[in-house]
Amino acid sequence: MAEVTVMLGRGLVPPGEPIICSDDLGVLRGDGVFETINVRGGKPFLLEQHLRRMANSAAALEIPIPRSEAMRGLAESAVEEWNTRSEAEAALRLIVTRGREGSKHPTVFATVNPVGEAWKRPRRTGVKVVSATLGVSAATRAEAPWLLGGVKSISYAATMSVLRWAKEQGADDALWTSSDGYALEGPTSSLVWLEGDELCTTSTETGILPGTTSRHLLDSAGSIGLRPKEKIIEVERLAKADAAWLTSSVRGVVFITELDGKPVAQRPDIHAELVKLSGFSLD
Ligand code: PLP
Repeated sequence: MAEVTVMLGRGLVPPGEPIICSDDLGVLRGDGVFETINVRGGKPFLLEQHLRRMANSAAALEIPIPRSEAMRGLAESAVEEWNTRSEAEAALRLIVTRGREGSKHPTVFATVNPVGEAWKRPRRTGVKVVSATLGVSAATRAEAPWLLGGVKSISYAATMSVLRWAKEQGADDALWTSSDGYALEGPTSSLVWLEGDELCTTSTETGILPGTTSRHLLDSAGSIGLRPKEKIIEVERLAKADAAWLTSSVRGVVFITELDGKPVAQRPDIHAELVKLSGFSLD
């Protein structure tokens, strides 16, 4: 159960109280957008970047999202409420669905939950990853906007499905690959890797979600003597990179220990620098 729920236009909602109608298009069709934002030290991390990405996602779906001041106010009131209850690291979700069938008003709410040990443990242990095809080439989504490349929609059923499949294979997480053999991103994370002194992430032209965490790391790469680079890499070459990570706002910066059953090289020195740059706690 969400520990804090705040609805735009209604305010704080008691825990467990229903807020979605049975004809909400978010429920019926997964038609909506969302963001998950890390809250540490009582503040939402990279809030403006998340609000910008959410506005872009909503524009792609032609959902009339409230203005960013209203979304920022909603986020801040949910975090304020969280801060009265706990100092623990938390995940703030902002959700905007297309709203009730036949209505022109989106359903807009925020929730806050603690970030549990299941998310924090991999920050210390790393993860084993298996590749899984997305079934489209690295170029397809740029030519097919209806596939919603780069959009953080709430339709995550395939995402949850591939994660279950990865666990059945004995892995901790999956890595989406293109039908022409390129590594794209995790189902709920960005891919970051090291090649020499280049800190790389997947080019957004492939239709991956532009990660706020990976962007933050690449934008700060110069301060630790690395050069930021957006590019694409074949899965086989990724397995031979100098190190590789999955990054996201909830998991933080997690190193990949194995890809498809083969060990991936580690750079504990660079890992420590990336953790420091991102500010995620290892406790
Ligand atoms: N890619 C996908 C598909 C995601 O769902 C996420 C986050 O949930 C990310 C990348 C990482 O994005 P961020 O670092 O902004 O959390």
